[in-house]
Amino acid sequence: MPELPEVETVARDLQRWVAGATIADTEVRWDRTISHPQPAERFAVEIRGATIERVGRRAKSVLIHLADGRVMTVALRMTGALIVAPAGASDDPYARVVFHLADGRELRYRDVRKFGRIGLWEGGGLRARTRRTREGRAPYRVGEVFARHGPEPLAPSFTAERLAERLRRRTGRLKSLLLDQSLIAGVGNIYADEALWRARLHPLRHADTLTKAEVRRLHRAIRAVLRQGIANRGASFADYVGADGEPGANAERLAVYRRTGEPCLRCGRRIERIVVGQRSTHFCPHCQVLP
Ligand SMILES: [Zn+2]
Repeated sequence: MPELPEVETVARDLQRWVAGATIADTEVRWDRTISHPQPAERFAVEIRGATIERVGRRAKSVLIHLADGRVMTVALRMTGALIVAPAGASDDPYARVVFHLADGRELRYRDVRKFGRIGLWEGGGLRARTRRTREGRAPYRVGEVFARHGPEPLAPSFTAERLAERLRRRTGRLKSLLLDQSLIAGVGNIYADEALWRARLHPLRHADTLTKAEVRRLHRAIRAVLRQGIANRGASFADYVGADGEPGANAERLAVYRRTGEPCLRCGRRIERIVVGQRSTHFCPHCQVLP
């Protein structure tokens, strides 16, 4: 499942390749991919003629900012991918939504398992006042989509102090907390395991037992593993590809994730796998001890 580095890679590719492009027409081939507006035909009508101004990311979603201020969100979930196909490229049977660009290229939303969702929203944050209109409630703003998400871990404002403050009110286990999108946005199973190994913290440690120095280590580790993931264009285990359709190179560079039984890169002892909150968890029992 694509996490922050994978989604960031897709967003940066799209910024280079489709910023400035106009969406001439849209084919929705699987209605349930469209989460807003409903029905899916309305989505296709509302996005017709829109120009893509820039492409960014929030949490694990690609944000396609349109020139008129609206924002399209693409949550890739399990197997979603956004791929730019040149004019005349052969069709993709797994393309669920196809944006025909005015220059002849296609921006394809490909999704084998169909869990991903695309929405089109008014721009603006949470604080923007919701106006009542004659039709009822004013359209949802993109800020509301991410209302329950925590801060971006690579933002300059995400300091070790901020992480400490967010952890202070939590008593859960570190592995589960790192996966909780309301604590920090964008971290999933791969980068949670990698960050904990790098910080030398056991996945079952309770957050309220961390010392100040340990929180600082965790903060540095989270940012380092995410930056490394972006530098390597993400980790591909199954379906994840960049907008060029190619897998990322980070899977081979991971320290613990899916390396059960292999030697720890720090101490040489074997990596173990346990299950925490129904999620596979990989760690080194020698480097990451429970006090
Ligand atoms: Zn070790």
